[in-house]
Amino acid sequence: METTIYKNIDCLVTNSGLIGTKGTRPNEDSLGIISKGAVVFSKKKGVLWAGRSSAIPRSLRIGKTVDCKGLVAYPGFVDSHTHPAFDGDRAKEFSMRMEGATYQEIAHAGGGILSTVNKTQKASAPKLADLITKRLESAHRYGVRLMEAKSGYGLEKHAELRSLNAIQAASKKFRNVKIRATCLAAHAIPVEYKENRDTWMNEICEEILPTVARRSLADYVDVFCDEGYYTIDESRKIFTTAKKLGFHLKMHGDELANTGSAELAAEMGALSVDHLLKVSDSGVSALASSSTVATLLPGTALFLREPPAPARKLIDSGACVALASDFNPGSCTTQNLPFIATLAALHLGMTCPEIIAGITYNGARALGMAGTYGALAEGYMGEPVFAEGDHPAAIYYRLAQGALPNPL
Ligand SMILES: [Zn+2]
Repeated sequence: METTIYKNIDCLVTNSGLIGTKGTRPNEDSLGIISKGAVVFSKKKGVLWAGRSSAIPRSLRIGKTVDCKGLVAYPGFVDSHTHPAFDGDRAKEFSMRMEGATYQEIAHAGGGILSTVNKTQKASAPKLADLITKRLESAHRYGVRLMEAKSGYGLEKHAELRSLNAIQAASKKFRNVKIRATCLAAHAIPVEYKENRDTWMNEICEEILPTVARRSLADYVDVFCDEGYYTIDESRKIFTTAKKLGFHLKMHGDELANTGSAELAAEMGALSVDHLLKVSDSGVSALASSSTVATLLPGTALFLREPPAPARKLIDSGACVALASDFNPGSCTTQNLPFIATLAALHLGMTCPEIIAGITYNGARALGMAGTYGALAEGYMGEPVFAEGDHPAAIYYRLAQGALPNPL
């Protein structure tokens, strides 16, 4: 068995105070910091032991030993909201937007989500799988060990299935990041169904989701519930179908306008509702009294030059807050989760324990995986991540630098 002993870690963040909790109001104790810490890690079995370097059990002192003096070690990061299944880029649209072009002008010039949909629909499954594999490798360099991956740029049955197949193929090619897949057929309303939404709703509920369930192509179903996208009633219908088929629920909500999506997510027992730039006070209390995670995506707010989500209000009310990249070609182009953490410090007013919990344990909660990812304790999976220094903020204090390569 291939085992590595990381020892003499100046600051070992274990998250031991979060394990088994709902991830609310993280504080310094939650991080379970051990100075001069050690982790015994097996690629196959995950964390075999974590504690003080002087207390490594004799039976585990076999394997490669790495001296981690001068380093902080974290549980593998969790990016719980990404859209990696796409072809093409939208650099031209970005420059037009920054020079003042309107949404209509951009659409007229062939930009917007539909340009990505056109390219993705034409991409072959192997091409998509190659693109996603490269994106997994990139996420891994930033310390991500568990990543959620959505379809949603297919916007018709076969292209959605092809995207989900490509996600599966990529996860087999690159195994250093654990992938959980989400069917986001309800990303936007396809142009050809604009006047005939019910037909598209039936296609999702009676064709796409049952096929995805039968072929085990996704773990979650997501809906973009917002102004100009899916209504509350449509979202409820998709969620009800998805639940019956055995999917866990995730939601894009209250980003462009307050539509009451946070309340619906809490009511339906969704694992998370994501964005929340415009969440109302009643949405905040609904989340605080539910186990639905509030996932904030500060990279998207930055890229769209929107005011940030009310992180303090959510955390102080008792909601569990996770942080994710929302990596996608239109509204957030980074996979650098440590940079997202920096934005949480700069723009969301989150404390260090809240931020670290947000990219580890609480991210895992948003995927229903907090029993196996997001902590460094026996039985947990995901290689540890390292940064230079001796304080848990080290990973996001160095602006846009990301994680260190594994010191092996
Ligand atoms: Zn998204």
